This record gives sequence, C-alpha cells and structure tokens, in this order.
Amino acid sequence: MKHFEVIIGLEVHVELKTRSKLFCGCSTEFGADPNTHTCPVCLGMPGVLPVLNRQAVVYAAKAALALQCTIHSYSKFDRKQYFYPDLPKAYQISQYDQPLAEYGHVAIVNGGEVMKTVGVRRIHLEEDAGKLNHLGQRLGDAKGSLVDLNRAGVPLIEIVSEPDMRSADEARLYLTELRNILSYLDISDLRMEEGSMRCDANVSLRPAEYVGSLEELPRVEIKNVNSIRNVQRGIEYEVARQAELLEAGERIIKETRGFDDQSGRTYSQRSKEEANDYRYFPEPDLPPLVLTDAFVQEVAGSLPPSTMALREELREAGVQPKDIEVILSDQGALTFWRQATTLFDDARLVTNWMLSDLSRLLNAHGDTFATSPISPEGLVELLNLIKRGTLSGRMAKEVVDKMYETGKPAEAVVKNLGMSQITDGEAIKKVVEEVVALHMPVVEDYLSGKDKALGFLVGQVMKKTKGQAKPDVVNTTLKEVIRAVGEKT
Ligand SMILES: [Zn+2]
Repeated sequence: MKHFEVIIGLEVHVELKTRSKLFCGCSTEFGADPNTHTCPVCLGMPGVLPVLNRQAVVYAAKAALALQCTIHSYSKFDRKQYFYPDLPKAYQISQYDQPLAEYGHVAIVNGGEVMKTVGVRRIHLEEDAGKLNHLGQRLGDAKGSLVDLNRAGVPLIEIVSEPDMRSADEARLYLTELRNILSYLDISDLRMEEGSMRCDANVSLRPAEYVGSLEELPRVEIKNVNSIRNVQRGIEYEVARQAELLEAGERIIKETRGFDDQSGRTYSQRSKEEANDYRYFPEPDLPPLVLTDAFVQEVAGSLPPSTMALREELREAGVQPKDIEVILSDQGALTFWRQATTLFDDARLVTNWMLSDLSRLLNAHGDTFATSPISPEGLVELLNLIKRGTLSGRMAKEVVDKMYETGKPAEAVVKNLGMSQITDGEAIKKVVEEVVALHMPVVEDYLSGKDKALGFLVGQVMKKTKGQAKPDVVNTTLKEVIRAVGEKT
C-alpha cells in the first residue's frame, strides 16, 4: 500500500446555554412544542432589528480564553447567505473575516502525557438555523418536511481547528479534550446526541511524494456527526475510501458527505460550497463588536482551573493516568471524588471503588455520579468498614449493591445482612480444623507438594463461614493446622 499523509481539521459548533437567543428575547429551551419559541426577529420578518445578547459574548470569550486564543478588541458580524427552508431570513448572521478570536491551541493528552498540540484557527459567534423534521425514515424517501424554528437564532460558537490532526484517533482525543475544557466552563450542555455540540470533519490524504508541498488538496467534509465515537469511525472510513481511490489512480472530489451510523460509512451529499458561494457581506443592522481590555480581564478572572491543573491535582493524589481521564471527563465524578477524598485519606481506594463497583451500579441504573443514590459520605462509610477489617472486599461488594438498592447506609446494611467479618482467630481455627478433618485426601495432596490443593481448602472454609472469615487469617491458620497434621503422620 502506498503511503499517504492523513490531514484532518475539525469544525465544532457549540450551542451556548444562554437563556435567550442571540439576537432576540426568545427562550432557548430544548424540547418545546415546535415554533413556540419564536418572534418576528428570529422568524426573519421584514423591518425587525437584531440586538446582541451580552451573555453569549461572555460565554464565547470564556471559550476563547480557555482555548488560549487571542480575543480581538474589534470584530464584526456578517451575513452568510444561502437558501434553505430552516433559515427564514435566507441568511445566517455569522462572523467572517474578522472573528471574535484566533490563534489558540488544545493539547491532546494520551496516557497522561501531552501527545501534541492542535492549533485553534478561530472562534466566532453565530446564530443557529431551525430544524427540519422529515416525514419518513430518510430524507430520500420522506413524504414531506416540517419546519421547526425554535432553534433558529440560538447562539453558537464555531471552533475551527488547524488541519493538525494526522489520524482518527488524534481527532477523537482532540474532541475529548475540547469537550473536557468546555464542560468546566459551564457554557453549553455539550450533548452531541441532542445537537448542542456538533462536529464536521475535513479529511484529505496527501500522497507521500507531495508531503511538504503547498498544493491544496481536495477536502472531503463529513457533516454533523452525532458522537465522538462516530467522528472517529467516519474519519477511519473516509481515510480508507480515499486511499483506495488514490491507489486506483482516481481523483478525490471535493464534496460534503454524511455519515451513516448503521453501516459506518460516509455517503455523498453534495459538492462543497466555496466561501464566495455564500456572498458574505457585513451585517448592516449590527454595530461592530468592541471588547475592552477590562472586559477580557473580567472574563479571564472568572475562568475555572484548567483541565491541566485538574489533572495535576488528581495525579498528586496518586490517581493513575487512565483513571484521571475518566474522572476528568465527568464533572460530577470529579466533585464526588473531591468530597470523598476530603473524608478518606486513601485516594486510590476511593478511585477504585468509584470507577469499578459504583460505576457499574450507576451505569446499570442509568444514573450518574451527580445523581448517585450513594453519596460520597456513604461510600466513605463503607470504605471505613473495609479499612477496619469489619468487611472483606468481597463482602463489601455485596453491601454496596444493597446500599444502592435500599438507600440505607453501610452500617445498617451490614447489620441487616448479619454480616461482619470473622477476625477471631479461635473461631476460624475451629472451622479450619473441621474442614481439614473432612478433606484429609486433599490435605495429603497439599503435603505431597500440590500447592493448588490449598485453594480448595480455603474455599471450603469460606463456604462454611459464608464468606465472612478474614482471608489472610484463614490462609495462615490452614497452613498451621496442616503443618501440625503433617508432623503427626
Ligand atoms: Zn425570537
């Protein structure tokens, strides 16, 4: 196979969670009855005037600073013109040649290490379009389409990366980190499945002999993919498709393609527009956006700690790189972890319990750490019982299930189940002697060098004590008793 350099750039649209739309007072709430959140401004009636939402500018500036961009003191709005039923004005108010912010970057983190830095070319503010609901399974065989303009005019930022990514995996890591960063800013719901975060991927392949050349390559844009996983799948498919075409001596056509979730394939939608197809021109109804240093300073002062600082906090507490990424990707998990670790000094044990047993229960019940029926205090109470030796790890697993089911604290569950670990050496010795007497052939096997036989005997003791005997005490006691038997024979 010929060698190709894969070149990927991503455009990410993020809906800002302001209460009202970008240029009018209509609500931005998701899921309302169609066309109930509309007014003459967002319906594009003649004679109306847009007024910029200040909160949207603050949110956009937060994103720009968190992505290390330079915020321009002067930017302006432009009309991007195209005809489509979801766009009542037949133009979208966006920012073209003078965007809000430029020259940022996002560090891609893999296995706890910064793998590379992806440039952020620009961030601009724009309004969303409405939504078409097709009456049919697919657009192709729909009987008709209904227009819902509730979304028309909802504020968006578009974050355009440099074409710095070289694999589908890097694109996934970039999106993951972008979502992490934005989630701590609390400026968007970031729900890809609901469309509050949407991603278009530009993919092109450069044959080895052109590496380093400035010749522009035909780009294929994969539009509106609804999850990070699917962005990765779409790019993987597209890279393979383009490589096959190029190897067969064919040309790549510059086009826009959709992604089909079921088949994992991309499919041709239309040939791609050039910027000048949109006939951009300055929006005459809005003054330029002028942001003072004082405004930018104020926004900068309101930023939460960066994701890199959060990673450092978790790393210093002894959390493993893989677990750090899991906790970091869920704000509720980080809050839970912080509360639990202020009450319990073994951060590793907290992390292990959170990411294994508690996660298992949360996933099974469709809960999250933010809505967990077991509180950080509740988990710590359980961990204290393990630490004090009242519960073995195995018993604790049973207890945590019951805690989740009943909402009762660990102590109460332990009492109800009549559970507590037998640590009394004499009590264990009694059971061990019974087991040894019952299974003499196995004991002899062990004495003749079959180490595995011990496991069976341990199992028998645990069975007799209903799993409540302390395993290390069982082990040492068994060896002692067997040694005594061996000396006698
Ligand atoms: Zn409106």
